[in-house]
Amino acid sequence: MDRTFFELQEILKEPGCFLCRLEEAHTRKFFETLFYEFVTDWGVRERIRSGGFCKTHAQKLFALRPSILGIGIVYQDLLHRYLLGETPQTESCLVCKDWKERHAHITHLLATRLEELAPFWGEETFVCLHHLAQFSEPLRTRLENATRKALERIARNLSSFLEKFDYHQSGLPIEPQEARSWQEAMEFFTGGLMGNKKS
Ligand SMILES: [Zn+2]
Ligand SMILES: [Zn+2]
Repeated sequence: MDRTFFELQEILKEPGCFLCRLEEAHTRKFFETLFYEFVTDWGVRERIRSGGFCKTHAQKLFALRPSILGIGIVYQDLLHRYLLGETPQTESCLVCKDWKERHAHITHLLATRLEELAPFWGEETFVCLHHLAQFSEPLRTRLENATRKALERIARNLSSFLEKFDYHQSGLPIEPQEARSWQEAMEFFTGGLMGNKKS
């Protein structure tokens, strides 16, 4: 049983870029576990001290704040080391490293079991431009084709949303998929979760 495979089945049903969702959930969980272990495990502290975090993950850490005390201690360590003349190697960001491994596993599952996953692919499920660029052929084209179908639907939803928005007085109700269509379009071009979606 592959937990990631079942996770993919679930996440593919949700509208938006499923890789953005998986990456966001991964970062959140990684920080929670890291700072939980941080209290009891000195090895973890050493691992963080060696590199700190890249800009993206430092920003995520700032926003998520799994432990103010833990973050304070990590950055105290990094400051002391810097003052002693050590430059942090941010290319060795622990979150990036861990996501890279998970991404390789997800890629393997998509490349080998896409037919099994296809029935779970939702009507507004796509891969954003940022994540598409990380796949190589022939998987990329297969994901692009599924993405195009979703984008065509999103474009239709967006058109009817704008129509109803223009003639709001007509009293036609705006459907949820129409209301989120502009956010999905933004997410496709820039990646990252938009609006009030849950990760
Ligand atoms: Zn994405
Ligand atoms: Zn990183």
